Amino acid sequence: MRAALQRRLLVWFAQHRRSLPWRNSRDPYRIWVSEVMLQQTTTAAVIPYYERFLATFPTVEALAQAEEEDVLRLWQGLGYYRRARHLHAAARTLVQHHGGRLPDDPDLWRSLPGVGRYICAAVLSQAFDRPLPIVEANSLRVLARLYGYRGDPRQGAGQRWVWRAAQALLPTQRVGDFNQALMELGSLVCTPRQPRCAECPWQRWCRARQLGEQERIPPPASRPVPVEVQELAVLIRRGSRWLLCQRPATANRWPRLWEVPHAEIATANDARAQLPEVVRQLTALEVQAGQPLTTLCHSVTRFRIHLHAWSARYLRGTFASSFYTAAVWVTPQELDRFPLSSPQRRLLEKQAAKAVNLKLGET
Ligand code: SF4
Repeated sequence: MRAALQRRLLVWFAQHRRSLPWRNSRDPYRIWVSEVMLQQTTTAAVIPYYERFLATFPTVEALAQAEEEDVLRLWQGLGYYRRARHLHAAARTLVQHHGGRLPDDPDLWRSLPGVGRYICAAVLSQAFDRPLPIVEANSLRVLARLYGYRGDPRQGAGQRWVWRAAQALLPTQRVGDFNQALMELGSLVCTPRQPRCAECPWQRWCRARQLGEQERIPPPASRPVPVEVQELAVLIRRGSRWLLCQRPATANRWPRLWEVPHAEIATANDARAQLPEVVRQLTALEVQAGQPLTTLCHSVTRFRIHLHAWSARYLRGTFASSFYTAAVWVTPQELDRFPLSSPQRRLLEKQAAKAVNLKLGET
């Protein structure tokens, strides 16, 4: 049965694999970049980022030589910036201590920042055919259904079971293709809802299908109850310039990215009254509250964040902060030079467009 499963899956993959920019290469650097980007992000969203990143940093040496800010700017919009910082730090380690080589050595890979079991196996199996299994959301679902596993394969004993199952299914050759095929099957056919079993190369052996339990296996992931958070972001104007501040490297969220000052507030009802004190605490500047600009909602892990953006006018003072590490006054046209978090970029691009339109209206 194992040999038949391997054969059928590889034949199916040869016929149905999507043409993706990282698929025609066995260069571990290119595979690594793609796998880091694909964590937490969809394939369609990754493609333009991947192409831009590889055009700018075509080798591990080029990435190692780059400034962190340039790496973050290219990552802007992909989210989970820690991935980019780890990738950059790992590239520097590889160049400084291993001559820029990316060898077939799991111990070395696992010692790099940001490289866990999945990334290590994905890179080494695709680049070198090393027999390492990979388990991520797609392959986990397919394997649980194939074997009719009724527990939760995302945790505890279920995790151990699914890694063992993935290892046991590996062929001795074309390991990288097999791993990719398994993920592709989960992505295109064995989808979370309404899997297309009639098109599946494993339908004959699939236990969940025999039981009619495809929709119940695996059980849905338990989701934590979202926590609502109110935040105030203040666009401080000084003439035609806005204040941007840089977050510290140790910040939990968006380390080293730039933003207009923002902080959590207990309630958004009296944002105008709170604004001068929030700004004073963050920057030591005196400002006069202006108008509400917009409210943006976004989720970070279990937090549902409502970002209330206000304008303010600079009155007096010199920037000083126990949180931010730097500050600059920039024109809207200069924003592109600074890596910003996604919500702040949405906010500032909107305001920059308004500022340009106002200017055009004046002329
Ligand atoms: S037969 Fe259906 S449930 Fe089973 S692996 Fe294939 S698509 Fe998934």
